[in-house]
Amino acid sequence: MAAESDADRARARRARDERMRVEATGSGRYEVTGESGATYEVALEAGRCACPDHQFRGVRCKHLRRAAMEVTAGTVPAPGERATSCANCGERLHVDEDAADPVYCGDCTLDAGEFVVDRETDTLVVVVETTGERADEVEIPSRGWTVAEHYSNRHYDPGDVVVDVLYPLDRDASAAQVAARPPQRYAFPRGRLRRPGEGEADEP
Ligand SMILES: [Zn+2]
Ligand SMILES: [Zn+2]
Repeated sequence: MAAESDADRARARRARDERMRVEATGSGRYEVTGESGATYEVALEAGRCACPDHQFRGVRCKHLRRAAMEVTAGTVPAPGERATSCANCGERLHVDEDAADPVYCGDCTLDAGEFVVDRETDTLVVVVETTGERADEVEIPSRGWTVAEHYSNRHYDPGDVVVDVLYPLDRDASAAQVAARPPQRYAFPRGRLRRPGEGEADEP
């Protein structure tokens, strides 16, 4: 492969410094609009761009370079990913192109052993696990209907992630009281749970 030419160095500089807007359009394609206002479609993995510089000279043009830079910087989703926002805090994130909303960022994914508040009963529960399943796909065995269909969950997103919790938790209860009413495992939609002190004003 030939050494990098002056023209290549200039393309790299323009890719970095020019005002360009990169928009992911899905399936690994990006629309890159340059300072002139012209928009070209870049197919990143194939290394193709619709601009004349690439079409006629076959070079790695500034659009291709810029799209790759923005993917590396995380400002646009990589091929195979899409942009969305966390259903709990609204933070922008990139997820697998096939992953359905709602999704949660790492911070808003509840961890095993965490104490959280059930919005319906305003009581403390402990997280057993955040499952990878949707509320409308998990059946409650004793009921014969899904978590999403359960009467107290109907105003939550049926596609929400299911979190298994233990309830009730009364840390002041005696051993006899706990034995009489042992905590049981329940499956709740993630939206039904909040961390203590979080989101009390925006009840659904
Ligand atoms: Zn180009
Ligand atoms: Zn979040």
